[in-house]
Amino acid sequence: MNRTIQNIWAVGRNYVDHAKELGHEVPKEPLVFLKAGSSAHWGEQIPLPLHSRDVHFELELALRFNSSLELDAAGLALDLTARDVQQRLKAEGQPWTLAKSFKASCPLSEFVELPQHLPHFQLELKVNQQLRQVGHTSQLIFNFEVLRRFVLAHFPVQEGDLLLTGTPAGVGPLKVGDQLQARAQSDLGHQINRCWQVVQGG
Ligand code: MG
Repeated sequence: MNRTIQNIWAVGRNYVDHAKELGHEVPKEPLVFLKAGSSAHWGEQIPLPLHSRDVHFELELALRFNSSLELDAAGLALDLTARDVQQRLKAEGQPWTLAKSFKASCPLSEFVELPQHLPHFQLELKVNQQLRQVGHTSQLIFNFEVLRRFVLAHFPVQEGDLLLTGTPAGVGPLKVGDQLQARAQSDLGHQINRCWQVVQGG
């Protein structure tokens, strides 16, 4: 796939259990924020930014827009979040960019092509062999098609853009040396696997 991505449209609080673990109400319409397309990161090493002491993993299913702006492929994404920075920005009523769109803040897997009727996926993330996140996209508050229509109605979506569909409960901090193993399996048997290692950024 073309590895140059213009926009990453990310959805917050799209699993009830994750909204609750952060102490939020369940949203009434999709909560969409932007990660820069250039925050996409294809390497196996995840460099932690220096401006945060509390970078959290959020495993998400990423869907890709094709030339007809239909969703036609899926991959794994980590919506890395500088939680300490985000809490401060939220308290001050400021935008989240520093917390969500720093360098290499969107590690990605390879993508698999999907049929027109998108299957659901089971997601799993292990950190240092311990299972930390499990989710199934049938649990989404706003499903794939609702998200697709919402994003297309409001934003200048381009071919190749990604839609991050939200994270299930179990998010937590990363530290240098952590080994991550992420996995997704669709109801139709598509498999996506990705490993990452956390390193100190510069
Ligand atoms: Mg997220």
